[in-house]
Amino acid sequence: MFYPKEFDVIVVGGGHAGTEAALAAARMGQSTLLLTHNIETLGQMSCNPSIGGIGKGHLVKEVDAMGGAMAIATDEAGIQFRILNSSKGPAVRATRAQADRILYKQAIRSRLENQPNLWLFQQAVDDLLVEGNRVVGAVTQVGIRFRARAVVLTAGTFLDGKIHVGLNNYSAGRAGDPPAISLSARLKELALPQGRLKTGTPPRIDGRSIDFSVMQEQPGDLDPVPVFSYMGNTAMHPKQVPCWITHTNEKTHDIIRAGLDRSPMYTGVIEGVGPRYCPSIEDKIHRFASKESHQIFLEPEGLTTSEFYPNGISTSLPFDVQLELVRSMRGMENAYILRPGYAIEYDYFDPRGLKSSLETRQIEGLFFAGQINGTTGYEEAAAQGMLAGLNAALQTQGKDVWVPRRDEAYLGVLVDDLITKGVQEPYRMFTSRAEFRLSLREDNADMRLTEIGRQLGCVSDAQWQMFEQKRESVAREMERLRSTWVNPRILGAEEAERVVGKALEREYSLADLLRRPQVTYNSLMGLVGLEGQALAGPGVNDEAVREQVEIQVKYAGYIDRQAKEVERHAHFENLKMPATFDYMEVNGLSIEVRQKLNKHQPETLGQCGRISGVTPAAISLLLVHLKKRG
Ligand code: FAD
Repeated sequence: MFYPKEFDVIVVGGGHAGTEAALAAARMGQSTLLLTHNIETLGQMSCNPSIGGIGKGHLVKEVDAMGGAMAIATDEAGIQFRILNSSKGPAVRATRAQADRILYKQAIRSRLENQPNLWLFQQAVDDLLVEGNRVVGAVTQVGIRFRARAVVLTAGTFLDGKIHVGLNNYSAGRAGDPPAISLSARLKELALPQGRLKTGTPPRIDGRSIDFSVMQEQPGDLDPVPVFSYMGNTAMHPKQVPCWITHTNEKTHDIIRAGLDRSPMYTGVIEGVGPRYCPSIEDKIHRFASKESHQIFLEPEGLTTSEFYPNGISTSLPFDVQLELVRSMRGMENAYILRPGYAIEYDYFDPRGLKSSLETRQIEGLFFAGQINGTTGYEEAAAQGMLAGLNAALQTQGKDVWVPRRDEAYLGVLVDDLITKGVQEPYRMFTSRAEFRLSLREDNADMRLTEIGRQLGCVSDAQWQMFEQKRESVAREMERLRSTWVNPRILGAEEAERVVGKALEREYSLADLLRRPQVTYNSLMGLVGLEGQALAGPGVNDEAVREQVEIQVKYAGYIDRQAKEVERHAHFENLKMPATFDYMEVNGLSIEVRQKLNKHQPETLGQCGRISGVTPAAISLLLVHLKKRG
């Protein structure tokens, strides 16, 4: 049967990509249906109970800046927060939070259930409705047909998913969930380019069987506890708890080596490639054979459970080996495993088959987001989900899609990397992937993106008002620093030397003084008797305003230089390539380059340059050719 209501956008899958996609489309006013296997697993963390980290935290802040849910849900569920790289430059500082799994799911579900224009439906999707080369809906397992003008597919690790524990394997989407086999077959029938990847997870331990007294305690940042969302505050956080550290040892490594003949990875049973930066413990022992020990973090899964996640021992070794290796570590001698570790293989789709809007090139109106595009991680999934949902909404409104640039957002870097380079292994975000990372900081994601989000229609009135207040407060304070002069006759030499490093020989503005490396905003305000002044109105985080002012003043020289570099690149970077262009026409290009460009049909000259094998000389030839075409 056809369901009596038609939707603008259907999102398939209620993981991190799917929930952000559905929320974004609905925030933009489009009637949206989120179709997922199980409403109870909305927002489920398949692996580690943590959000953020270097590069990943940047993505979370960007999603937040555009009205998304991940950061605020983390503020409501986070049981340990830390700022990583806090002593390094602002470009690489990143927020990471340990989340209570149950609270996180609750926070996401409550946002979904309270979002106007959004409907939920629990059923597996087995088929897509395609007319000509356009998707027009989805069909569930029991034959219910839902019609829509765009479909966003976010099936995660579920497409033809196969779980491995030792040499045993079975079909599943992740432990405890069914695989999506019919949908995978249908996508193969539609001849969308695809491959196979794998990922893994460690066994979970019952905390009651761990001896924490012999482990090292790792508390979070407590003074102050960091906040993830621009709309968040510390009062939202539940109780904060520590993590614990233990180590593998020679005995652990011997146990693992002895078990490799029953490892699905080392016996060739698993074909998919795994994430390089999240390797299994067997991989680590093999690759770093000379290392005598690896650090293992025991992370609490929540406040109402005694389950612990041992970060660092992801494994698909047989269960008896898992038990032995866990028990070989200090404090774990009597550990009780309550969920075995496993690896999962799944289908992904070659993201070079996508446009930068995340719409498939082959089927109009069909968007892909998340792990299905070859990425790994909740944050990468959420960011893509938001972009795909937003673009599906824009398309159904008859508007141009939005494509973030590489110099504008990590989201732009992520999508551009995916669609130009494809993936050879699960892709995760790092700050090193961004060439303009001084401009793409966690602290300024709102300054970069909230106005765009507002124009596109996905930022609420409340968020917009708060942002405007913050932006005005920052501008006001910057102006005050530039126009307030410090007179050396009034300021004591001793006091100046203590804060500024030397006595002042002439008048300086506060902004001049703040640029000096040893001077902080707070020490400067103390010096001139202006400390503790409120900078923004109620609801706006004063500390965030101070941080923004300090970074903008201190790094102004570098930031301006980077802005000029971006400007220099912009012309060629954004030069649009003709929609269907026969690169065989371009004299002087090698056959390999012509074939690659013909296959991928990049949207801009910048994208051409990032396809492997396309050299700067080839770009010059393309430029000459484009000029001749006029
Ligand atoms: P998922 O979170 O997988 O969500 C997919 C959703 O789609 C689910 O709700 C599912 O029920 C639904 N769905 C699928 N098919 C259908 C269908 N046909 N009909 C209806 N609903 C459907 N990331 C890391 O960063 N580090 C790690 O170490 C790590 N380890 C992992 C280990 C394992 C075992 C797994 C499974 C994942 C791991 N991940 C890891 C990856 C992380 O979980 C994913 O990157 C992230 O969850 C992807 O989000 P997603 O929304 O794309 O998909």
